[in-house]
Amino acid sequence: MTNITKTSHSHGLNPDLLVKKETTKSEKAEKFSDLGISDSILAILKKLNLETPTPIQHKTIPIALQGQDLIGVAQTGTGKTFAFGIPMLERIGTTKGQGLVIAPTRELASQVEESLKKLGQTLGLRTALLIGGEALDRQLFCLRKKPHIVVATPGRLIDHLKRRTFKLDQVNVLVIDEADMMLDMGFAPQINEILKQAPKDRQTMLFSATMPAAIVKIAATFMKLPVSIEVAPPGTTASQVDQEIFIINGEERFNHLVKIINQYKGSVLVFVRTKHGVKGLTLKLQSMGHKAVEIHSNLSLSRRKAALDGFKSKRDRILVATDVAARGLDINAIELVVNYNLPDNSEDYVHRIGRTGRAGQGGKAITFATANEQKEIRDIERLINKSIKRTEFVKFNKEHVQSAHNNKRKPFLGSSRHSSESSRPGAARRYGQSASRGAGKRGQSAHRFSRREHSPLN
Ligand code: AMP
Repeated sequence: MTNITKTSHSHGLNPDLLVKKETTKSEKAEKFSDLGISDSILAILKKLNLETPTPIQHKTIPIALQGQDLIGVAQTGTGKTFAFGIPMLERIGTTKGQGLVIAPTRELASQVEESLKKLGQTLGLRTALLIGGEALDRQLFCLRKKPHIVVATPGRLIDHLKRRTFKLDQVNVLVIDEADMMLDMGFAPQINEILKQAPKDRQTMLFSATMPAAIVKIAATFMKLPVSIEVAPPGTTASQVDQEIFIINGEERFNHLVKIINQYKGSVLVFVRTKHGVKGLTLKLQSMGHKAVEIHSNLSLSRRKAALDGFKSKRDRILVATDVAARGLDINAIELVVNYNLPDNSEDYVHRIGRTGRAGQGGKAITFATANEQKEIRDIERLINKSIKRTEFVKFNKEHVQSAHNNKRKPFLGSSRHSSESSRPGAARRYGQSASRGAGKRGQSAHRFSRREHSPLN
C-alpha cells in the first residue's frame, strides 16, 4: 500500500518553484507565458522548444489551473497530454495530493508517462506506470516511492486496488484519456469502479476524440459541472494531412503498397484490419528486403515495445499495425500512413490518419478501397466533413452506384464524369495523383461500437 505523506517537504516537488502567475484569460493568449503557468514549468517548456500552446492547451490550461472539471474533445496529436499534464503538475506541486491518469492501452499509458516525466524533469517528479504485461515488482517499487503521478491502464489499476497495493485516497486530479477508446474496449465497468473509489473532492478531466452518449453519462454521474472544450468537431481530421483514396482491385493491394513504399522515402505506417493480416503482410515485406516490423495485441509487451522503438529510431522504416495497437501513439515524422484495409468504423479512419501530420507537420495518408466499399468511404467523408481525393485504378461497381441512387442517397463522390474519366485509357495511372474531387456532406459522428481486437491490452 502506498503511504503518501502530506508534508510539502517530503512530497518532493518544490512548491517555491511553482508560484503561479495571475491567470490571463485573454482569448488572444498566444504563448504559454500568457496562460498562468509557473516560471519553472515555462522554463521546461522552453527547454523542450515549446513556446506556442496548441488550441487544446490554450483553452484547457487556464480552466484546469483553476481546478475545474472539464471535458476535452480533441483529435489525436493535438497536444492533449500537456493540456492536462501542465495543470496537473502545477496542482499537485502546490496542493500536494496525487495525480492519476487512466489510458486504454499499455503503449498510450507509457507514452503519457514519458511526456509527463519530460515536463517534471527538473521538479523532482516521481511517476509510476501501472500496466499489464509487466511484472508487479517494478510497479510496487515505484508505488513505494510515493509517486506524484500514477499512469495506469484500467485492468492493472483495478488489480492493484484489489490487492491493496495502491489506493486512491490521495488522488485529487484524475484524468481519463482516450475515453471513447476505453469504452470501445469494454472498460466501462472498470472506469466506473475507479471513479467510485476515487475521493469525491477531486478534479476530473476527461479527454475523448468523440463524445458518445455513454461518455456523457459518465460525465454526468462522476463530474462536477464540467466545462466542455472542443477544439475541432469530432471527426475533424488533421488539417495538415493530404488524404487520398485509391480505388483498387483487392487482389492488387500488395502491389500497390510496394509501389507506394518505393515512391516515398520516409517512415510508413500501414494499417491492416486483422492481427493475422498484419503478420502476413510484415513477413511478405520482410521477404522482399523491406525493413518492416509488426505491432498488434497478440505480441508480448516487450516485443511491442521493441517494434515501436525500432520504428521510432528509424531502424525499421515500415510499421504494420492493427487499430488498437497503434491508436494515439505519438510517433513523430511519419511521412505516410497507408490504410491497407478500410477501418471497421469511420472514427478509426480519423485516428489512423492522425498518426501523420502531428503537431503541425505535413503528412500523407493513402487509403485502399475496393469498388464495393463506396458506402464506407461515404461514411468517412461525412464524418470528416470533406471529400477525399481519389485515384481510380478500377471503376466503381455500377450496382452500388445504382443502389445508392435508388436509395436517394448521394452517390459516392457522385458524378458519372468521374467514372468516365477513370475509364479513359491511361487515366489516373500515376501514384498519388487524384482523379477527381466531390463534395462530402456533414453527417452525424454517431459513435458505433467497433469490431476491434479484444485481446487484453492492459
Ligand atoms: P499529444 O496529442 O499529447 O500526444 O501530443 C502530440 C505531440 O505534440 C507530442 O509529440 C508533443 O510533444 C507535441 N506537442 C505538444 N504540445 C506542443 C506544442 N505546444 N507545440 C508543438 N508541439 C507540441
